[in-house]
Amino acid sequence: MSTIHSKNAEIFNKDRAKTTWHDQTFWALREKHDNMAEQLPEWEELRSHASDIKRHTITHLADYLEKFSANLESRGVIVHWAADASEFNETVLDILKSHNVSKMVKSKSMLTEECEMNPYLEKHGIDVVETDLGERILQLLHQKPSHIVVPASHLKREEVGKIFEQKGISKEIGNYDPVYLTRCARYSLRKEFMDAGAGMTGCNFGVADTGDIVVCTNEGNADMSTSMPKLHIVAMGIEKLVPDYDSLAVFHRLLCRCGTGQPTTAFTSHFRQARPGAEMHVVLVDNGRSNIIADKEHWQTLKCIRCGACMNTCPVYRRSGGYSYTYFIPGPIGVNLGMLHDPQKHSENVSACSLCLSSDNVCPAEVAPGSQIYLWRQRLESLGKANKMKKIMSLGMSVLFNNPPLYNTALKFAPLANIVPDSITNIGHLNPWGVGHSNPEFAKKSFRSLWREGLK
Ligand code: SF4
Repeated sequence: MSTIHSKNAEIFNKDRAKTTWHDQTFWALREKHDNMAEQLPEWEELRSHASDIKRHTITHLADYLEKFSANLESRGVIVHWAADASEFNETVLDILKSHNVSKMVKSKSMLTEECEMNPYLEKHGIDVVETDLGERILQLLHQKPSHIVVPASHLKREEVGKIFEQKGISKEIGNYDPVYLTRCARYSLRKEFMDAGAGMTGCNFGVADTGDIVVCTNEGNADMSTSMPKLHIVAMGIEKLVPDYDSLAVFHRLLCRCGTGQPTTAFTSHFRQARPGAEMHVVLVDNGRSNIIADKEHWQTLKCIRCGACMNTCPVYRRSGGYSYTYFIPGPIGVNLGMLHDPQKHSENVSACSLCLSSDNVCPAEVAPGSQIYLWRQRLESLGKANKMKKIMSLGMSVLFNNPPLYNTALKFAPLANIVPDSITNIGHLNPWGVGHSNPEFAKKSFRSLWREGLK
């Protein structure tokens, strides 16, 4: 009953010290989230208000998109529409080519990961330089993000220091002090900002009423990416809209508190138009989002603001790492997005959930990612992806539970299982999730018999 996820998790778990450190790192973020939530008595109201705003916006998306793009265009911003990932990549390439740009700096954007933009542009001769520190480290290591907010947090400072040494970014060999390494990265990136012909940002929120592109970062790299080059391209998923500033305020209070446990990000920038002598383009990307609106069970994923809180709290994510999942976004929301993207390819991820529903409780937009995974599990059979062994076991359980005399007999003989040696029942060699688990001990008397005895 192994899955791709469980096999990858087994590899991740081989380094016990790193697994423990990974678990503790993300649990610390969860604790910071709790501290923040406790400081706001209106926390639960904020969450349900955020959910209502998103529901309203998504169900009126066409109107808000029209308003948003009209506002941007009225100030000279060029708006593009991309139906899918290829159209997005082609649009960005066309913009860059028409400006003879050969190097682009970019701040973090999960949408560009979704569309696999970097490899596409690089194939066409464009040098794309990530400027978010975590993303830059991953780019140097040729790795993908393992988390949507803190993408390189699976790496230890020594690993970062070594790649900086190899690339000539740090000069003091063996100095793995984070402050030193950050300074080195800043110094090396400064040159990239100066040389680049274009800067790309993502978009945390688009305000329909005013046509603002709101970008939240902790490093100020989005601002550097847009204030040095004369060309600014925004990559934005169509679900990022909020109606107005009042709605934005609700999300602004939630995003960072949920993601990193800070009251706010260090930088929150509003881009409304190009600065004098510059040009600004916004590429609005669908890539399957319109289809999700029509999905009665899973439309709620569009409420997601990519804060990462569901990953930080998820016991499976914390102990298996981001690379154990098959979709580029890991954790509870990634399991759902992967299924919406390609259920045949990503169906094994739905087993990577304990159904503790902790993610439902922390999600600021009440997306309920855990409950949605439960729904996906029930669709596995119709997708032709149900595990055969689990099906046989479920069938056996169904026969047992639907037949009271058989069930009672099984219960009577169950304590016999206690005398089977643990070495036989331990299934760790068959399934990595069995490692560290032991069989429960059956009670000598069932609850039913005890109850009957009590009645006498
Ligand atoms: S599903 Fe909720 S908790 Fe998870 S990333 Fe999205 S908004 Fe955050």
